[in-house]
Amino acid sequence: MAVQKRTSKNVLLDTALKNFYAAAEEMGLDDGLVEVMSRSERAICVSIPVPMDDGSVKVFEGYRVQHSTVLGPAKGGLRFHPEVNLEECEALASLMTWKCSLAGIPYGGGKGGIAVEPLELSPRERETMTRTFAARIAPVIGDWTDVPAPDVNTGGPEMVWIMDTISKLRGKLEPGVVTGKPISVWGSKGRNAATGLGVATCILELLKVLNEPVKGATVIVQGFGNVGTFCAKYMTDAGAKVVGISDITGGYYCADGIDIAAAMKHVAAHPKRILEGYTQPGLQKMDGEAILQQEALVLSPCALEGAINAKNADGIKAKYIVEGANGPITPEADVILDKKGILVVPDFLANSGGVIGSYFEWVQDLAGFFWTEEEYNNRLVPIMKDNFARVWDYAQKNNKKMRRAAFLVAIKRVADALQMKGFFL
Ligand code: GLU
Repeated sequence: MAVQKRTSKNVLLDTALKNFYAAAEEMGLDDGLVEVMSRSERAICVSIPVPMDDGSVKVFEGYRVQHSTVLGPAKGGLRFHPEVNLEECEALASLMTWKCSLAGIPYGGGKGGIAVEPLELSPRERETMTRTFAARIAPVIGDWTDVPAPDVNTGGPEMVWIMDTISKLRGKLEPGVVTGKPISVWGSKGRNAATGLGVATCILELLKVLNEPVKGATVIVQGFGNVGTFCAKYMTDAGAKVVGISDITGGYYCADGIDIAAAMKHVAAHPKRILEGYTQPGLQKMDGEAILQQEALVLSPCALEGAINAKNADGIKAKYIVEGANGPITPEADVILDKKGILVVPDFLANSGGVIGSYFEWVQDLAGFFWTEEEYNNRLVPIMKDNFARVWDYAQKNNKKMRRAAFLVAIKRVADALQMKGFFL
């Protein structure tokens, strides 16, 4: 019996399903396994009432999806963004399953979030919303069931509120229920920079296998949040020249190189943590779309999904794209980029430093024993290098694109475990 393939009107979910089915077909995966792995184990929707500062009550919608717990507790971020919806969370949760599998860490995949524009909330409204959300998803999260983490527009403060709410509900400290916590509250030195460090490590490994010198290599980083900032910083530290950065306020280009330390300082001092008003000699301000079209050796989209799409892919001038965000290239754009001969390192390999770092934090929380930042980075970088090499070698040997190679390797580990465990419960 042929598998009844799922499709979705949500582009990200449809893409995730198409990528999965294509890889599954290529590896001749058993129909039953395909059926199981193309669905999420559990998805919950919650409403989140928040008394607003003006006396009104607003109700937000929140989600948590556990795509798979075959390899271990579901793992993945929580995002606060107006576009968050169930299908998007489902797609991103499945990407987490493949990411954790490929990374070789003992986790399944999950994702969640709240449909909200966080910039419109006061600090008190934001905390109340986060704590109420935590309480409403409390029945399905825990250190051995599902471990959320930061994602778009969330970070240390949100993770502390979640940990504290769950700890109070359970009457005992629950540090391992979330990762990405600040260092002073059971977080881990190194976690904040881990995703960006991982993306930069992948870029450097790519340049190495292609014999491209790092010194002076030009890089454009789209998105100047947690991932983009540290990616740009580590590329600069390695001797590359970051010529372009961007955020919601637009693109910032400088042929002589952006002063990343100064840009980071500017953002840290801005009340909204944005690049607005940043300037340096020779800096050109342009819109966010235009920055993607500038000359550079490497482009790293570190913002949101769908950033490179059928409309703008043809104008990309970079030779290599290393995906820091989740799903930044649409399938149509993937085809166009391929025709143009642009090599793409896929998201769930390139940005896996974040979740590998989360794994380190969780291990330290469970043991109650903490590492130095040096120990943390000394473990992270070799794992990233190994994972890059594994996918690169597989792609070369089997004449595959890196995205397909990564899917084939990742799906195999989950399929093997699923086959051994069976489908009971
Ligand atoms: N949000 C990050 C990601 O998409 C980190 C997830 C985690 O650490 O659990 O990979």
